[in-house]
Amino acid sequence: YILHMNLKTYVKDVPDFPKEGIIFKDICPLLASSKATNYAIDQLAKGLHEINVTKIVGIESRGFLLGLALAQKMGVGFVPIRKPGKLPGAIIKETYALEYGEDTIEIQENAIQEGDQVVVHDDILATGGTAAAACKLIEQCGGTVVQCNFLLELGFLDGRAKLEDYALHSLMHY
Ligand code: 5GP
Repeated sequence: YILHMNLKTYVKDVPDFPKEGIIFKDICPLLASSKATNYAIDQLAKGLHEINVTKIVGIESRGFLLGLALAQKMGVGFVPIRKPGKLPGAIIKETYALEYGEDTIEIQENAIQEGDQVVVHDDILATGGTAAAACKLIEQCGGTVVQCNFLLELGFLDGRAKLEDYALHSLMHY
């Protein structure tokens, strides 16, 4: 049993990626450590104590990594939210604004049912646009979002403002 780990030592700052002026948070070193990944999953699961959870939704693509692991740990199913054109069958889509332009995400309509208690997971909370759109998709399917959780939150981008209707839990804050 690991008492405490400083997960920030497993996140690498990459200047000017993917564009000049952006300091990218690279979580690959964390994933490359079994110990750090295991600890992160434990900590995410701990934040869900005493909440009834029936589904974990992970956002493409890094949200799939720990999202599935968290779902397995909790003993519930995993549902992917994906970029356009990837999911077969009946889908619901949500378009949201980016700094420049817009983006769309999709969910399979029958993946979440009325009464589902859903946790939204992604690696990083930046401006919050993606997670807010994910919450809307889940609600359109009849689900309730019981928490949004993230490995890492970029506080200076104030993603929390877009998610003020939801419980938030981030393991690291910058
Ligand atoms: P938002 O919609 O909150 O602005 O953006 C969140 C999405 O962008 C997440 O899916 C996340 O993976 C990605 N993202 C934004 N900034 C970074 C970053 O610095 N590092 C990584 N790994 N992903 C980022």
